[in-house]
Amino acid sequence: MSTDLFEIVIKQLERAAQFMEISGEALEFLKRPQRILEVNIPTKMDDGSMKMFTGFRVQYNWARGPTKGGIRYHPGMTLSTVKALAAWMTWKTAVVDLPYGGAKGGVICNPREMSMGELERLTRGYIRAIYDIITPYTDILGPDVGTNPQIMAWIVDEYELISRRRDPAFGITSSKPLSIGGSPGRVGATAKGAMYTVREATRVLGMELKGATIAIQGFGKAGYSMAKTASEEFGMKVVAISDIEGGIYNPDGLNADEVLKWVKEHDVWIRDFPGATNITNEELLTLEVDVLAPAAIENVLTKDNADKVKAKLIAEIANGPVTPEADDILYEKGVFQIPDFLCNAGGVTASYFEWVQNITGFYWTSEEVYQKLNNKMTKAFHDVYAVHKEKKIHMRDAAYVVAVNRVYQAMKDRGWVDK
Ligand code: NAD
Repeated sequence: MSTDLFEIVIKQLERAAQFMEISGEALEFLKRPQRILEVNIPTKMDDGSMKMFTGFRVQYNWARGPTKGGIRYHPGMTLSTVKALAAWMTWKTAVVDLPYGGAKGGVICNPREMSMGELERLTRGYIRAIYDIITPYTDILGPDVGTNPQIMAWIVDEYELISRRRDPAFGITSSKPLSIGGSPGRVGATAKGAMYTVREATRVLGMELKGATIAIQGFGKAGYSMAKTASEEFGMKVVAISDIEGGIYNPDGLNADEVLKWVKEHDVWIRDFPGATNITNEELLTLEVDVLAPAAIENVLTKDNADKVKAKLIAEIANGPVTPEADDILYEKGVFQIPDFLCNAGGVTASYFEWVQNITGFYWTSEEVYQKLNNKMTKAFHDVYAVHKEKKIHMRDAAYVVAVNRVYQAMKDRGWVDK
């Protein structure tokens, strides 16, 4: 089976359609992005040369409202990946019932090998290149792998420079620094949201959350916050974490901040941490733990390793970490999965709260943000779980049924497809 991400999206959609009453024409509509833009971004490098970068913006479906989706900077970026991520954003905003459609963007580049100046010029060039199809009311950007609040700040600034607008223009992107329209509580919201769904899953599965063990793949923005939130707020024991080069394991538990400090002080990847054993990413995925949280990249659980998974529950923080074949194997084994676009929807939900604050100019406290986030995630989990139980289908199929039905309804109401 191909691991082309967009082919996986189509496969997931077709599979879920079996459990829904959806017309053939609506399904064909949903298999296509509404708009794709590919741009060339000539960027001045520090050595004086001009380098050409390819960027994309895909607005997948805007039936439910302005499209929303992050910007990924990665050397392995492809149009297929952006299309897939944009489709998942469409289902994600729908499953948590935000008044948004889905989009995604990205640039083929390696941010690790670029200076701050080069990254700033690339980012500003990207915004100039896609300016014609974005506004805070039509398509809203955000961070993803390889991008961060600093890059969001340059996006806002460039957007304001071109549009000659002020405050509501903050809404052009989420996850900004607090000084320019960022929301309290946005940092770490993905992990918080994921933990709210893990909490609900352990309730319905009859598992004890406090003291439960968790292995987390990826120690970036999402993985680090997950390690911190799971242990500090929910009393879980983080026994393994990893990054691209491998990871560490300690059955007595790991402290996320101590690991981060060690990695920074020693200028190393996550390894040789005192008291822990070095492990590979492959070993991490098959550890004897209660919860496994892939929080790095796509396609890490495949037909080759899914049958070796020993976790009872998989919290999919990364987008697309499990292939459709692995889904079947895990379902057969009785492993409960919280599907990606439900599990990691806390980030976009908090981004939506940030946007609401930007366009109204009225700012909330982090307590208000978390309270609203908790309500949204808890409801979304139970909306999906109810369909999973009622139709006796995989949680991913159930999440698709909930989300796609909401998009389909909006398309019918607009007259885009026949009722
Ligand atoms: P990030 O760039 O901050 O961190 C990525 C982490 O994954 C790093 O620790 C990196 O070393 C590790 N990694 C990269 N390649 C790997 C590999 N081959 N094997 C193991 N580890 C590898 O990115 P992030 O924002 O933390 O996002 C991680 C995942 O979560 C992505 O799939 C992203 O789409 C998803 N996600 C993130 C958010 C968010 O708010 N940050 C929201 C929704 C979904």
